[in-house]
Amino acid sequence: MIQINKHILHLWNAEWDAHLTTGQWTKHLIPKADAHPYPTTFWTTQVLTGHGLFQAYLHQYKRSESCSCPHCQHPNDTAEHALYHCTLHADKRPPLDQLTTDSAQFRYFATLVMRSRWQHEAQLTKEHKTQAPRKALPAATS
Ligand SMILES: [Zn+2]
Repeated sequence: MIQINKHILHLWNAEWDAHLTTGQWTKHLIPKADAHPYPTTFWTTQVLTGHGLFQAYLHQYKRSESCSCPHCQHPNDTAEHALYHCTLHADKRPPLDQLTTDSAQFRYFATLVMRSRWQHEAQLTKEHKTQAPRKALPAATS
């Protein structure tokens, strides 16, 4: 059984290494498929995958009019920006070496950042509902 598990992990890592263009952000955080130090929750998975409330991601699917960060106006709001560089909660950001090696620190900061982003988005939605209806964005294409 142990030999089978080792073989499966070997195949999984080979597949992981073969993806040279997709998932680069996730591979940056998780270099080997069998060495995943991060807890996966609703909040942390958005940061780990980059598929979350990040304006660059939403803009890719025509769900946002801009790629700019709503908190600091950086022109490319990605998961990397939110985790490493954004001024939002910069005073609470753990040192980068702890952020990428200490699962509790990662979970704490990723959750803090993503909850704030969702609260901000909910506030904007609430404000828009009280204003005149705005033009809908075009349907997403993939
Ligand atoms: Zn920012």
